Amino acid sequence: MNGGTSDTNLVGRGNRDGARLFREWFAELTATAEQGQRSAYVFVMGSLVEILRVFDFPIVFPEINSLQTAVRRVAHEYLNQAEDYGYSPDICGYVKADVATQLRGGEHPMGRIPKPEIAVFTNACNTYIKWAEIWERMYRIPTFTVDIPGTRGAGLQTWPGDPDFAADRRYVEGQLRELIALCEEITGRSFDIDRLRETMTETNRMSAAWKALLDLNRARPAPFNALSDGTIFLGVANGFRGTDAGATYFENLVEEMTYKAEHGIGTLTEEQYRLIFVGVPCYPLFRRFNEMFTAWGGTFVNSTYLWFASGGTNVGFQYDVARPLESLAEGVLIGVRDAMDSMFFQLDILEGMIDGCAADGVVYHPIKSCRTVSTGLADNRRALMERLDVASLFIESDMMDRRVVTEAQLKNRIDAFFEGLASRRNRSTVTT
Ligand code: SF4
Repeated sequence: MNGGTSDTNLVGRGNRDGARLFREWFAELTATAEQGQRSAYVFVMGSLVEILRVFDFPIVFPEINSLQTAVRRVAHEYLNQAEDYGYSPDICGYVKADVATQLRGGEHPMGRIPKPEIAVFTNACNTYIKWAEIWERMYRIPTFTVDIPGTRGAGLQTWPGDPDFAADRRYVEGQLRELIALCEEITGRSFDIDRLRETMTETNRMSAAWKALLDLNRARPAPFNALSDGTIFLGVANGFRGTDAGATYFENLVEEMTYKAEHGIGTLTEEQYRLIFVGVPCYPLFRRFNEMFTAWGGTFVNSTYLWFASGGTNVGFQYDVARPLESLAEGVLIGVRDAMDSMFFQLDILEGMIDGCAADGVVYHPIKSCRTVSTGLADNRRALMERLDVASLFIESDMMDRRVVTEAQLKNRIDAFFEGLASRRNRSTVTT
């Protein structure tokens, strides 16, 4: 059912290049680990890599390492090991897969993960803070929390020019200055503001391209699938943020998707239903999960995942490199706050996504392991249904733990959803 073979050089290039970049990244991490060197551990909701790259820290995203164990179908071995060690079955599966990775000396299906020298994280997920304490205990390393002031109420975001925004921005900037001082202390190197400008310039290129990419998927048929292709894009957006390779990758992706949109090449040759995905993917059944939708001609045109897990890249914010630290603080504040808004104040943006992509339905996918993203989804769904006449599906599984994922049950619910979508469409054809 996959379409798009008319230009083999361009169509599919993003997925090929994404896989190559991923292999290169993990090869580099493996070399770092084997040389006994250390790295910076960071998270997708506010990675601060623009600063860390100035000090040449190899960058490790433990969330990405963990999800890769599920995609490569070995997550259960890691989860069992962490549970045998004493971690509860109830906590975030990413944490447990990482604990097992650490207990194995960094052994991972994609190579070897170096130990941390520092961990940097935001308050976007409270698990980040407890997770980093594990490394603090294991390796006696410094951890650094950047506290990002969240939105105070639905629709109450403040922006540059507003005195409340200026106060929040100053608060974040003060913390970034402390982080720089800590990096100087750890590495024994002086901070180079021009290197910061360079990494910010690369992030600007990536952010502009990422925003353009999301807009391109409004085309009908949609040129990419936000769940399957989108997850590859997200990996590159995080792992290569602040680099020329990452920015170039996204500019190339825009070229590819523009070509596909202009030539009517969809990710599916027969797109029947356009869907929005809310939550974190089901990595233990990654490909199969998506196929249960594409078999009915359903494609995911956008997702909240592309929003909160992109490190703020989705908002397309452009740093002003003439005032780097102030502008970095603005970008971090806007980007991380936006990721938190995707959980606390989802409704307005979801409504915009549905309208913008002409979506036929919304798929809510709460998962056992991640309360941060899953809590409140049932209420969010009810609120959306009260506001809009749009079909929705609510299916529960997990992003790591195949013991709580039942393919047959998921399939039954998904099939029934598409039958409902078909009769909805028939009804509207009859009445118009
Ligand atoms: S609880 Fe959710 S958001 Fe937090 S670290 Fe785990 S998967 Fe990520």
